[in-house]
Amino acid sequence: MGVLLLSESNLQSILAKVFGYTTFRVGQQQVIEAVQAGRDALVLMPTGGGKSLCYQLPAIQGAGLTVVISPLISLMQDQVEALQAMGVAAAALHNGMSSEQTQSIMQQLNSNEIRLLYVSPERVLLPYFVQNLQNWQVDLIAIDEAHCISQWGHDFRPEYGQLGQLREALPQVPFMALTATADAATEKDIGVRLHLHDPVVYKGSFDRPNIRYVVEEKYKPQKQLRDYIARQRGASGIVYCGSRKRVEELAERLRKDGLRAAGYHAGMEHSEREFVLRGFVRDDIDVVVATVAFGMGINKPNVRFVIHFDVPRSIEAYYQETGRAGRDGLPAEAVLLYDPADAAWIRSIMNDHPDEERRRVEQQKFAAMQALGEAQTCRRLVLLNYFNEYREQSCGNCDICLDPPQQYDGTVDAQKVLSCVYRVSQRYGTNHIIDILRGSKSQKLTDVGHDKLSTYGIGADQSHEYWLGVIRQLIHRGLLVQNVAQYGVLHLTEAARPVLRGEIALQLAQPRINLVVTKPRV
Ligand code: ADP
Ligand code: ZN
Repeated sequence: MGVLLLSESNLQSILAKVFGYTTFRVGQQQVIEAVQAGRDALVLMPTGGGKSLCYQLPAIQGAGLTVVISPLISLMQDQVEALQAMGVAAAALHNGMSSEQTQSIMQQLNSNEIRLLYVSPERVLLPYFVQNLQNWQVDLIAIDEAHCISQWGHDFRPEYGQLGQLREALPQVPFMALTATADAATEKDIGVRLHLHDPVVYKGSFDRPNIRYVVEEKYKPQKQLRDYIARQRGASGIVYCGSRKRVEELAERLRKDGLRAAGYHAGMEHSEREFVLRGFVRDDIDVVVATVAFGMGINKPNVRFVIHFDVPRSIEAYYQETGRAGRDGLPAEAVLLYDPADAAWIRSIMNDHPDEERRRVEQQKFAAMQALGEAQTCRRLVLLNYFNEYREQSCGNCDICLDPPQQYDGTVDAQKVLSCVYRVSQRYGTNHIIDILRGSKSQKLTDVGHDKLSTYGIGADQSHEYWLGVIRQLIHRGLLVQNVAQYGVLHLTEAARPVLRGEIALQLAQPRINLVVTKPRV
């Protein structure tokens, strides 16, 4: 192996001369020293933590080749261009290149003129390519976005799953796996699938202190979204939604509001997507409404907000998506519009997954996400706990910390809801119950004689949103259940009885609507 062992001062001087940095970020030096000792490494660092330097610096100093496996062409190109600008012999091989370009790079590789080569997992696994790798002097294989290797990760990619074969073909070469999101199961699986041999594991803190986490009850989502964006006055932001159709609708809606907004999803032409991505990076587009397809490789430092219009499927996905905000370290906001009915719907589709084990994993991941959305304690604590990072102190920079839920004696209001559900024989959903409580004059009610019920109009003093908040809490607390298979019909549970009979009091949290924390920043 051609890796030179460097003294500490040597490392420092490359850091300064090539990269122009004065000090290492936390963990970088430790990982670089592991590579130099010929060891495998597993690097878990949050987005913006400085993962690339961990393989770039040893590659620059080494005598051989470092191969970087990366899932996205745009990501490869960004890095190659930046390295070339620093005078480093770096290149990428991908399918978007002419055969002349490819040949020229292959020649340079054959004569060991390249220090860093970026390739896709598909290409690196081609038999002829593996053979070449065996002939070249390869110092290190670095695998970026390594969570894609694992079935337990939230973004499994089959071609990544096969990278273990590469390890078998190159048993003497150290491997480095890097990712910004891996829960305990994924972390372990990465090691197993890549056959990492006694790896040095570096795990940085996943906290992104400049991101303010906010969960808002989703009640008039379009209005909530538009009001929020209007208050941002042209700041850069991303709105994630669950479907392509909604992406198009919302983007159109925002454009009609006079905003510089665009949609992005996998069903769009490649050229159109590139256009949107570039426009966003250059600040020609302020808001991108997107599916999860808009993701990896957005290297834009000044994203000020990320809104989840629909709840993501896992905390990992949520963390990675919100992590695109505030990479410059300045204050940024992550807003989740949360509706337990959406969650119930997602759970019901997960139930249809044919593979039982996969279904269980997805359900568990989603249950954790739901718990985050419904938490009454510091969101950051819940988030970090999920990545096995424990803290005592609340963060002071999430909706719960900034505006703690006010508790009040909600016994009477709970009784109003529960008895109303009882009066309609547990055959109606949330909106119908609220209409009865608020004394709605709608024909839907009068047709079935619900304007004659004793509970009709007993909640007219409170808003629709207020009652929605109460019903949601009764669901979270297990006094009501919502039957997803039956259009969200509400049923009473055993736990509702003592409350209905007035045997126990019930503390409720004030519904979190029109949050103070998302009012304009001054
Ligand atoms: P990641 O891949 O972990 O998301 P990057 O490798 O893209 O992070 O690094 C994030 C930013 O931090 C980049 O702009 C990079 O130039 C910068 N950076 C990395 N290491 C250092 C360092 N030691 N000192 C100063 N800036 C650094
Ligand atoms: Zn907090």
